[in-house]
Amino acid sequence: MKKIAIIGGGAAGLAAAIAAGNELARLGAADECEIVLFEADPERVGRSILATGNGRCNFSNAHIDPACYRNTDFVEAALRSLARLSGVSEWGSAQPVGAYGASAQGSAQPVGAFEAPGRESTQSASVFEAPVQRFFSDLGLMWREEGEGRMYPAANKASSVLDVLRAALDVSGARVEFRKALRAIEAPARGKGRFHLRFSDGTIAHAEKVVLAVGGRGVSAVDTSSVIPCELTRPVLGPLVTDSRITRQLNNIRVKCAVSLERSGSLVAREEGELLFRDYGVSGVCVFNLSRFACEGDVLSIDFLPHMPSADRDAWLFARRKHLSARLGENGQIAAEDVLRGAMLPQVAQVLCKCAGIDPARPLSKKDVLALSRVIGGLRLTVRGIGDAKQCQVSRGGLSIAAFDPQTMEAVRASGLFAAGEALDVDAPCGGYNLHWAWSSGLLAGVSAARSAVSADGEGEGE
Ligand SMILES: Cc1cc2nc3c(=O)[nH]c(=O)nc-3n(C[C@H](O)[C@H](O)[C@H](O)COP(=O)(O)OP(=O)(O)OC[C@H]3O[C@@H](n4cnc5c(N)ncnc54)[C@H](O)[C@@H]3O)c2cc1C
Repeated sequence: MKKIAIIGGGAAGLAAAIAAGNELARLGAADECEIVLFEADPERVGRSILATGNGRCNFSNAHIDPACYRNTDFVEAALRSLARLSGVSEWGSAQPVGAYGASAQGSAQPVGAFEAPGRESTQSASVFEAPVQRFFSDLGLMWREEGEGRMYPAANKASSVLDVLRAALDVSGARVEFRKALRAIEAPARGKGRFHLRFSDGTIAHAEKVVLAVGGRGVSAVDTSSVIPCELTRPVLGPLVTDSRITRQLNNIRVKCAVSLERSGSLVAREEGELLFRDYGVSGVCVFNLSRFACEGDVLSIDFLPHMPSADRDAWLFARRKHLSARLGENGQIAAEDVLRGAMLPQVAQVLCKCAGIDPARPLSKKDVLALSRVIGGLRLTVRGIGDAKQCQVSRGGLSIAAFDPQTMEAVRASGLFAAGEALDVDAPCGGYNLHWAWSSGLLAGVSAARSAVSADGEGEGE
């Protein structure tokens, strides 16, 4: 009997195992092949899924755009290939039945056809989204769409996503082996036969087809050098360490703002949303997203009033100064922080005034007002590097996409070896995009591995 080995039981590995099982059944070949999922964890699959989305699992996004991803062309080709395999035509013949209201309120009212803001209501999910939505619909998952297209399970718990996956895994016929951390993979002799899988407990397994789905952190620990090159990974999508003299005074304060990442005076990327000051630097979704582009020495420029043009901001500050001095009379002295009262927290106002170089002992001059306006529109922090790696959501690097065919996820020079998920050098911003990639590439790799196992002629005899 031929063996399909799936290495890693996270999002991509589970999708691959389920898809491979379904495909073997569809081809009437379930008796010819066994699927074994090797997972490093001592007792459960999908543990990594439980921690996602703050325990709620933002499992996909209703507006998947390949341009959001690193290695865009590869991702687009893979998503289109999966759509073809799933029989999804442009603008989706798949009507996902698991979708609940597309509003941020997450109304419990089923809407039938999936309606997303900015799309004609007659249109459903696009080719990039539909296969994953159909996959989860078929598993029985219900979900709701929140702000910016983020999709969460209706039960609001990551465990409900894992529940449906585990139930489907049971049905798929895949066998799971725990405490199996792959240490090295070796190619079949003369390119024919079976891959050798060496585990850290000293055991060896053989398989005709292998799907590597060990995630971004896991892939660096696997010696793949005899089959495929693998770059070291580094954490991204996390907090940034910056010049801490300013941020430590605002530790744990959250602000809604816009943040621009600048390099040598040019804009690299801009994000709007919530920023969290920490004693070491800055965190929050918009910082996480910028961390994918940030290098040491770059500057983060924080705009505390992003919807107010700079001329309006100047005018507003002058109007506040005038209003306050009229109230205080001739002898009253306006504190710069008073001008900002009501617009931002006192601690933030205090720090901004300090950064603007305002001397609290002197009356607030026109020059002071203009300096304060400039700092409100662009508090500058120098990036020192990525923050705590444990808080980072993805890794960059790993298996080069150049070594894989996006039509199948199979290695170009190592036939029978497939890869999926974060083990590949693909990452995206927060919002469900990374899990969407894990499911999509896992489904594609699983179906491709099953088809290749069934169609392979005479393999497995060379060993
Ligand atoms: C805190 C946190 C929150 C996140 N929230 C979101 C979110 O809400 N939405 C989103 O889209 N993305 C989120 N992400 C990113 C997302 O979780 C990953 O992109 C996704 O899980 C990658 O899936 P994967 O299957 O490739 O890898 P993983 O989920 O990391 O799974 C890899 C699996 O392989 C196993 N493994 C590792 N090494 C070996 C080995 N040598 N041998 C055998 N098994 C091995 C691991 O135990 C694990 O089970 C979050 C990440 C983190 C860390």
